[in-house]
Amino acid sequence: MTTRVWDYLAEYEQERDDILDAVDTVFRSGLLVLGESVRGFEREYADYHGVRHCVSCDNGTNAIVLALRALGVGPGDEVITVSNTAAPTVIAIDQVGATPVFVDIRPDDYLMDTSQVEAAITSRTKCLLPVHLYGQCVNMAPLEALAAKHDLALLEDCAQSHGARHHGRLAGTMGDAAAFSFYPTKVLGAYGDGGATITNDDQVEANLRRLRYYGMEKQYYVTSTPGHNSRLDEVHAEILRRKLTRFDSYLAARRRVADRYAEGLADTSLVLPSITPGNDHVYYLYVVRHPKRDEIIERLEAYDIMLNVSYRWPVHTMSGFAHLGYETGSLPVTERLADEIFSLPMYASLSEDVQDKVISAIREVLATI
Ligand SMILES: *Cc1c(COP(=O)(O)O)cnc(C)c1O
Repeated sequence: MTTRVWDYLAEYEQERDDILDAVDTVFRSGLLVLGESVRGFEREYADYHGVRHCVSCDNGTNAIVLALRALGVGPGDEVITVSNTAAPTVIAIDQVGATPVFVDIRPDDYLMDTSQVEAAITSRTKCLLPVHLYGQCVNMAPLEALAAKHDLALLEDCAQSHGARHHGRLAGTMGDAAAFSFYPTKVLGAYGDGGATITNDDQVEANLRRLRYYGMEKQYYVTSTPGHNSRLDEVHAEILRRKLTRFDSYLAARRRVADRYAEGLADTSLVLPSITPGNDHVYYLYVVRHPKRDEIIERLEAYDIMLNVSYRWPVHTMSGFAHLGYETGSLPVTERLADEIFSLPMYASLSEDVQDKVISAIREVLATI
């Protein structure tokens, strides 16, 4: 059987009775949209993070769109982020009419180089948007200081970092708001699309609730501005509630997989993930690096192992973002790493047998490359 970087079927077999019961619970509830499951999940997800509010929505991209709008970011504003991210981070900034401004990444953890942020701030900067990519957090203290000094909003993109900790603090609890995705592959994944924003700010929460519901505070009257139809489905909310009760076991399983890779690949020419001091990594992706990346990926296909690159094309080099005006060469660390990084299979239900097959295939390929 083909081995991929992600697969949910083993987990579904283990959890099938509970997942089907979740679906049946919703279908029998009599309320299919914004009902008890969404309310319950929002309460439980806020409680997990120890924050006042969680407002769910239909996907992670829209969680960022809604959060930016709820924080007052719009046309003419600049948002500082990174180019080494999932394109949706930047698409969301574009969709609210703001301009993304990129800083480079660090060569060790591949995350935002926060020492470059102050120089990127202009009179139009409205928001800092760090991306806790791959499952560990950006160095937040300098960003918190800059946000306070320059009166900027601080929005965390937590789509890849559910449950990650930074000097003991949970990802998503360090800024003014944080956006999550529950796309199936994510560390906490639904059986379809989903997203949420968490915040301690009552005004931001009120804005989020209005904006995800057409801009209405009550049926059927749009108040300050037209909004979106961006609701989390009851079925996915109920599935997420069930999975949240098992969430710590998913994190433990991902860390076990990471430990086994670290052991099985330690003495090879692969550069393994580097954990920045103060971070607890949740390993959404297990990202390694090698100058012969493309050849390794191609040779592993003969073993029926299909790997991925996250991300092969930095956002600023994509033709769809040519209007931003970035030249190739403008973000040298981002561009260099994009040619060398790739992801190994990583998910909570990955079996030791399959992982051993992956490790020995990689070792064979590396020995002859
Ligand atoms: C997945 C992801 C998103 C978008 O989430 P969707 O639910 O797919 O819309 C945004 N940012 C990052 C970093 C992601 O990984």
